[in-house]
This record gives sequence, structure tokens and C-alpha cells, in this order.
Amino acid sequence: MIKIINTTNGTEEVQKEIEALLNRSQLEFGEVNRSVEDIITKVRDEKDKAIIEFTEKFDGVKLDSIEVTEQEIEDAYNSCDPELIAALEEAAENVREYHQKQLSNSWIQNDKKGIMLGQIYNPVEKVGIYVPGGTAPYPSTVLMNAVPAKVAGVSEIIMVTPPSKDGSVNKNILAAAKIAGVDRIFKAGGAQGIAALAFGTESVPKVYKIVGPGNIYVAIAKRIVYGYVDIDMIAGPSEILVLADETANPEYVAADMLSQAEHDTLASSILVTTSEELAYKVKEELAVQTASLSRKDIIEKSLADFGAIIIAKDMDEAISYTNEIAPEHLELIVKSPFEMISSIKNAGAIFLGAYSPEPLGDYFAGPNHTLPTSSTAKFYSPLGVDDFVKKSSLIFYDRERLEEKKDQIIKIAEAEGLTAHANSIKVRFK
Ligand code: NAD
Repeated sequence: MIKIINTTNGTEEVQKEIEALLNRSQLEFGEVNRSVEDIITKVRDEKDKAIIEFTEKFDGVKLDSIEVTEQEIEDAYNSCDPELIAALEEAAENVREYHQKQLSNSWIQNDKKGIMLGQIYNPVEKVGIYVPGGTAPYPSTVLMNAVPAKVAGVSEIIMVTPPSKDGSVNKNILAAAKIAGVDRIFKAGGAQGIAALAFGTESVPKVYKIVGPGNIYVAIAKRIVYGYVDIDMIAGPSEILVLADETANPEYVAADMLSQAEHDTLASSILVTTSEELAYKVKEELAVQTASLSRKDIIEKSLADFGAIIIAKDMDEAISYTNEIAPEHLELIVKSPFEMISSIKNAGAIFLGAYSPEPLGDYFAGPNHTLPTSSTAKFYSPLGVDDFVKKSSLIFYDRERLEEKKDQIIKIAEAEGLTAHANSIKVRFK
């Protein structure tokens, strides 16, 4: 049962709630870490052979070949529900259009005579995308990771995903990969999939950056290979915070909280409100709606462990808790949501008003659904085009400009004891 915390009785309990949220983590050390390290080492050394062995062990299928063929992709696309294909295509177009706005241009600055400085932007050439298999396949994950990479200009997008027991990859995943423009797909899940992307095998090309969510084996593997390759972020369990006033419909608020709670027993659904009446109505609604949902057990545990309804004394206090929690998804179901935007400092995505519920962003509107969790919205941003772009500096001084500034440069080099650095300047003006 979800707890109600009334801050008029003091703020201690709210602080405890926030701390519990911050300490929620899927990342354990020890046993899992060691077994992931072993998998990674074996894949690095034995390549395809190790992938085939681990796939047999963990996914229960012995593969002859790990690459998904063009024919398999075509067949999957053609056998999908045409209405799903149309919805995915429209969603992909929205994601494309939104991310195109994020493209930045290289720039140069040459307003000082004899000097040109600048920065050139280049896409990361090869990117790997992990797409979870397991019980629930998520075609939206394919779109949200591959489309921004494509918009950034990545020339090779390699996807890995675990096969099912019959050796196939879910057809909706393959169709989404075709729509998003993924170049090659391999049947390799968990840590072996991540290791294949990080080090390359006979079949799987080595990539420079790995993105995409997954279970604990995937998360730990990404953390271990970070440095050999870049990674996006380590996603924690999902969360929603609904900030609502007395105008909110309790049925909507409860439904949105439940849509998050069903993800995982570690997921967190929080309502922060200025209305005591709304708080109690939402609590009632949560119980009513949960009773008919298929993932009832997961929801009940998630709400009991990491759910909360916080009654704040006024909107300023409510906003301050919201910024402290820094939720992955924030819904503003209040009378004037637009007026509140500038007060929100920390949130992954902000959903405005009663008709912008979280699934709109998860699947369709265009902004990325890969968002910072566990309060990391205080310093991380949603996945975007920037994640697939890197920058190089440009520096040009002509002879006269360098001569003018040579003494200052030599001074700094000698202060650092780097006489070869100083000499590289001196040698030009002997
Ligand atoms: P998964 O693809 O992440 O993991 C399956 C793989 O785990 C298997 O192929 C296997 O290699 C490995 N594995 C399983 N047991 C193992 C063991 N004992 N030792 C070593 N490796 C083992 O699929 P999943 O398990 O269904 O997890 C999917 C995760 O992705 C969930 O946590 C879900 O919440 C998350 N997810 C997040 C988002 C998002 O956008 N944040 C989207 C989709 C899914």
C-alpha cells in the first residue's frame, strides 16, 4: 500500500523518502560483477565461439550463425501487423524531426588578424545498440536509440539482441530496426553482446560507442567496457513524479503512476500535491485500478517500497521536493503547467498538462525516452544527437601572431618544466 506523507507534520519523512529513491540501484558488486568479467574476457579471447557458447547457456539455443540475415529482416517486416508498422513509422518520423533540431554546426572564429580558431563536429563512425530481449521486446527502444544516431550521421549502426529459444529475433524488433536504419543485427544478448561490440569478433564489428538499456548483466558489462569504448549512461529503474494541484483528475494521476510501477518492483511512482483531497482520492484510485491490471504483484510491491504521496504545504514546497527528487519523468498536472516550466530545474522529461501522459513520450511524440534516472537528471540529459557526435578543435596562428606571443608560451612551458615544449616554439624563431 502506498504511503501518504503530510509535510505539515514535518519534512523528515520526505527527506527519508528522497534518500530511499537515491539509494535505489540495480547495480550490485560481487558475484554478478565477477561473472560478467569472466564473460567479457572469454568473448574478447574466443570471439564468435564464446558468443555461441554463452547464447546456448543463457538463451537456450545453439546458433550456427549469429548475424540476422537481410531475408530474416524482410520476412519479419512483412509479417508484422501493418497498423503497428504504420504507427512505428510515424513515431520514427517524429523522433527524427525532433532530433534534427538538436544538430549543431561546426564553427570557426577569425575576427583576430592572423588567427583562426574553431571546432569541427563529426559523428561517431560506428555505434552499437543493445536492445533487450527477455520477456518483453521493445521496438520503441530501437527507434529511440537508432534514429538519433542516424540523424547525427553515424555511418554504421550495429545492433545486438538476445535470440529467443528457437533462434529467431522478435519480428517487431527487426521491423523497428529496418524502419530506423540499423545496418547489421547480431544475436548476442547480455554481457556477451556488449563484449562483442566493445572488442569485435570475426562476425561483429567493433564499435566506438554502445548505447541502450538492459538488465543487470548488460549494465555491469557496459560499465566494465567503458574506456575501451564510450557508453551512454547506466540506466537505473524507471520513475515518475506527478506534480498535481486540486484541478487534477485523480483517475488520470493514478493511471500514470501505475504505468511506471508496472515496469519493475524497483520502479518508483510519486505524487507530490498541494491538495490533501486529491492525495486521498489518488490513493483510492490506485487500489481500484491495480486490481484489474495484469502486473498487479509487481505494482503492489513497487508502490509499497518506492511509491509515495507527498502533501506539500504550498506549490513552492512541492516544486522544491520535485527538484530534489529530480525524476526521470515529471508530469505537471496543474492549472497552469506552462507557468511552472521555469521553476523546474531537474527532470529528464517534463510532460505538460492532463493530456500529455508519459506513454505519449515513451512511444510517439519525438523526444527521447532514454532519460536520466535515480536523480541523475541533476547532471545528465536525455539521450540525443550530441551523444553520437564528437568535436575536434581547430587552431591556426600565422608566423607573425605566433612570434608576437612566443614569450608568453615559452614562459608557461618552462614553468611546467617542459623544455621540449618551449623549444618547439623557440626553434621557429632562431
Ligand atoms: P536483457 O536483454 O537485458 O537480458 C537478457 C540477457 O541476460 C540474456 O541474453 C543473457 O545473456 C543475460 N543473462 C541472463 N541471466 C544470466 C546469468 N545468470 N548470467 C549471465 N548472463 C545472464 O533482457 P531482460 O532480462 O528482459 O531485461 C531487460 C531490461 O531492460 C529490464 O530491466 C527493463 O526494465 C530494461 N528496459 C529498459 C528500457 C528503458 O528505456 N529504460 C527499455 C526497455 C527495457
